[in-house]
Amino acid sequence: MRSFEEILQLCEVDLEFYEAVIELESRESGKDFDSIYASMSFILDAMEQSVNSAIKSDFKGRLMKDEAQRFGEYISQANDLLSGKLIAKSSHIALSVSQYNSSMGRIVAAPTAGSCGILPGLLFAYNNLYAPTRDALVMALIVAGGVGEVIQKRATLAGAEGGCQAECGAAAAMGSAALTFLKGGSSEALAHAAALTLKSVMGLVCDPVAGLVEVPCIKRNGTLVALASICADMALAGVRSVIPPDEVVDAMRQVGRALPESLRETSKGGLAITPKARTLEKDILSQISPLSEI
Ligand code: SF4
Repeated sequence: MRSFEEILQLCEVDLEFYEAVIELESRESGKDFDSIYASMSFILDAMEQSVNSAIKSDFKGRLMKDEAQRFGEYISQANDLLSGKLIAKSSHIALSVSQYNSSMGRIVAAPTAGSCGILPGLLFAYNNLYAPTRDALVMALIVAGGVGEVIQKRATLAGAEGGCQAECGAAAAMGSAALTFLKGGSSEALAHAAALTLKSVMGLVCDPVAGLVEVPCIKRNGTLVALASICADMALAGVRSVIPPDEVVDAMRQVGRALPESLRETSKGGLAITPKARTLEKDILSQISPLSEI
């Protein structure tokens, strides 16, 4: 599917957003509704396994240490979380899964490995707090998949091509639409939740320190769940993007192309060339034991 417009046109007839996504996927792939649904259910199972393994894992990164564990302890003890339960739990899961990816754990790239924490963070924190049916979670994953597909077809999902807006930004847009679906938002609201999210990360650069998917990637996973959540709430409240969702994605593509090469996964700009990053890189290269502070 190439556009939100295509999806929403089908929704105007008599389909829900997730059904329209399956219908369009079915027309392209030739697979039937049941097999597409079963595939997404299988992916949700794999995602849940990755969450469970990641939360228990003992992460040993080269640049980051135990941020997810530390944050998990904090939110389990805090009486009054400034960011609220959904965001804090989502963030903990997102940090954990993202760290797990960096230590070669098995994750679902949704849409990429670098941004793999955001969607499971939102889905499984929501699951933990609101206990939706399993089918609702699968449908939410299909909604997210539809959003990701539109971004991929109209723009890109690669940091090397479009910066981090295309990875963590896309993941947050997918998650925002999924949350909006789970809270009963209209099809139009789902598309606008994604658009509101993408607008807020437009131009986000890809600048991994020492070429590793750790800094700033892991913390971006942990923070962009907050943006996805507030954009879902805005969309549920009837707030709409003035720029139509497809045009937002087109603008994202144009901005991605305008980014210099130094800010597209080359580690030649942004945080990757700060004095601290240079020191860390040198340490890694000379195989001195990893630093514990960052
Ligand atoms: S900074 Fe680059 S490598 Fe890291 S998550 Fe973003 S796009 Fe991926």
